[in-house]
Amino acid sequence: MKKRRILVTGGAGFLGSHLCEKLLNMDHEVYCLDNFFTGQKDNIIHLLKNPWFELIRHDITMPFFIEADEIYNLACPASPIHYQYNAIKTIKTSIMGSLNMLGLAKRIKAKVLQASTSEVYGDPTEHPQTENYWGNVNPIGDRACYDEGKRCAEALFVNYHRQNQVRIKIMRIFNTYGPRMHPSDGRVISNFIVQALKNEDITVFGDGTQSRSFCYVDDMVDGIIQFMNTPENITGPVNIGNPVEHSILEIAEKILEFTGSRSKIVFKPLPTDDPLRRKPDISKLKNMIQWKPTVDMDDGLKKTINYFMKTL
Ligand code: NAD
Ligand code: UDP
Repeated sequence: MKKRRILVTGGAGFLGSHLCEKLLNMDHEVYCLDNFFTGQKDNIIHLLKNPWFELIRHDITMPFFIEADEIYNLACPASPIHYQYNAIKTIKTSIMGSLNMLGLAKRIKAKVLQASTSEVYGDPTEHPQTENYWGNVNPIGDRACYDEGKRCAEALFVNYHRQNQVRIKIMRIFNTYGPRMHPSDGRVISNFIVQALKNEDITVFGDGTQSRSFCYVDDMVDGIIQFMNTPENITGPVNIGNPVEHSILEIAEKILEFTGSRSKIVFKPLPTDDPLRRKPDISKLKNMIQWKPTVDMDDGLKKTINYFMKTL
């Protein structure tokens, strides 16, 4: 494959760092842009010695110019604790960040992929969620800064495509986990593993019967890159994730078993607007690319536990 110049915004974060690494392994030139709000230098420090890797400290709410062939737009805090910390900034990152990246893509004629989210479906009334479902989002709730920001970003992407023929790809990413999740970002898998390894209480919110479908990061990154390389007429939005659904209580029990921890499970109030069920219908993506998740939950959890055992 021809060497391409690829900009990855949010490249020092959890997903972004794996994406940068994989693109470099595919022999591309990678520009990693990040403001380090939730990203960490540790995530990409091993890439800095590669001459085809460039790290750029920048905030995507400000205009940015570079010559590139492709842009993966991942910059945005993704965990509820982090995106609610400065809700206005989260909205600005999704909306102004997307405007800046779309404007750049238009000017330099780059292809641009938006990391959208299952949160565009809110607390879904349809199960599993297909791309045709328009969602059930509270526009003024605690999660709105993230959900509505991402929904508006999708609207910006499709309209830059319709009006200005910008080459776009929109992926609705479902819960993803693995090494390099931030240890204090409060997302359920990293949180439970950190609690278990420290023998602290495992905090299950609600009664733990709410569900999520978790995808291991390597599978996710493979799918994102393959989708970016689909023909131009394919724009999405398309769901990506592992459709195997687990209750949160089940995840807590698995992590207790795999870590051999002395932690106890304690129940805490369910946060407002916490979706009760979530499971992607991925048939649309599977018709476009040769992709399916390959890492099962037990193996993925064990790999993630190993990572946290080394880094905590
Ligand atoms: P993350 O918090 O680890 O990574 C986000 C990165 O964006 C961080 O490095 C952060 O510093 C950077 N960033 C935030 N605001 C920025 C700004 N204004 N300018 C420049 N950089 C900025 O989260 P992640 O899990 O790696 O998520 C990456 C993307 O994927 C996000 O857009 C997120 O919404 C999307 N996504 C992730 C998941 C998941 O389960 N991990 C699910 C759905 C969607
Ligand atoms: N959760 C939990 N305990 C925690 C963190 C999260 O029970 O310490 C629950 C949370 O209420 C939600 C699910 O786990 O129902 C997934 O939460 P996460 O923040 O990882 O992702 P999201 O809600 O954005 O899917």
